[in-house]
Amino acid sequence: MMNSEHETFKIINAQIVTPFQLIRNGTVLVRHGLIEVVTEGFLEIPEAKTIDAKGMFIAPGLIDNQVNGFAGVSFSLGGGDLTEEGIARATRELWKTGVTTYLPTLTTNSQKMMLNNLRILNKAMANEELAGSIPGFHLEGPYINPEDGYRGAHPIQFVRLPEWVEFLELYEASGRHILQITLAPEMAGALDFISRCDEMGVVIALGHHNAPTEIVTAAIDRGAKIATHLGNGAANMINRHHNPFWSQLADDRLHISIICDSFHLLPEEIRVFYKVKGVAKIILTSDVTSFATLEPGMYQTQTGETIELREDGLLHYPAQKCLYGSASPLTKSIEYIVQVTDCSLAEAIQMASSNTAKLLGLNDRGKVEPGLRADLILFSLKYSKISIHKTFVKGKIVYESSY
Ligand SMILES: [Zn+2]
Repeated sequence: MMNSEHETFKIINAQIVTPFQLIRNGTVLVRHGLIEVVTEGFLEIPEAKTIDAKGMFIAPGLIDNQVNGFAGVSFSLGGGDLTEEGIARATRELWKTGVTTYLPTLTTNSQKMMLNNLRILNKAMANEELAGSIPGFHLEGPYINPEDGYRGAHPIQFVRLPEWVEFLELYEASGRHILQITLAPEMAGALDFISRCDEMGVVIALGHHNAPTEIVTAAIDRGAKIATHLGNGAANMINRHHNPFWSQLADDRLHISIICDSFHLLPEEIRVFYKVKGVAKIILTSDVTSFATLEPGMYQTQTGETIELREDGLLHYPAQKCLYGSASPLTKSIEYIVQVTDCSLAEAIQMASSNTAKLLGLNDRGKVEPGLRADLILFSLKYSKISIHKTFVKGKIVYESSY
């Protein structure tokens, strides 16, 4: 029973996760796709249709700044087989997991392939059916450190030095919708590149790098805002004093994104990151790939890598003995960070939605607050597991579970 985005409705009997408090028994009124009222108790609006939350949670839809692909669709790989229909299908599958906004993420590839995929993504994001769930894109690479370990699973033949003219070509192909770029600040020309990106309003993320402290500091001085998936994208053997973990943790200006899928980081790493950075400076990211929702087994990527998806959801890249991104949705990160840090559900949601919206300048979403887009999730929590029952995008039900 899908509704229209112009319908006025109220969700009653809900535990509402707001930025300030958990409202135990509240009502959210939605009109014209926007949140109009958030209140404790009942609201007498006769013309509004009623949805009874039956005591379940209402929270802002999740926002994921690093989605390489989903449900068999890859945004960055593929021999030119990315299609607008594929992007729409991946978006619908993401809605089922509570993600209402995401940045399709393109990893290191040939300029030709990146241009091709950005053009298709730019066309797809205008699709009204997707209701603005794709506000732009994240480039992770190709301007990263080529060394084994720091490079992670990015194909070495396409790693290159920052090149402004080349980047502008990508930027134009994206319809000027590149919102974030992850790069290695120690590569030649990277610091000037960062300044220019910052002037254009592109969020600079430091990742897949081995920059010394003075370069990390200089990058942040020039506008770098976040460290991408801290604790990953690094070599296994590092100098115990001189390594980018300390410098990035020590600088309070820098946000961090972390992959809390239970495979990428140990509980003690997450606890330390959480204590050092605090709720306000952490973003939960899935780094999810096209393998999410597929059957376990061995897979061959289009760039020739053999990847193993294990029964437990771990995605392994045997040739480099490293992880190949993730196959776990963002809800898993919320469950896991609550489990290992004892943070509240509201804090975990803040790290998986509000903080990400703020960092990316998406001021119309990310909170259950009057005036914002009614991008909402209705979910239950049983034995610390999240089950999404309904997902709303701009006030329209885009997913509801059958039970
Ligand atoms: Zn990465």
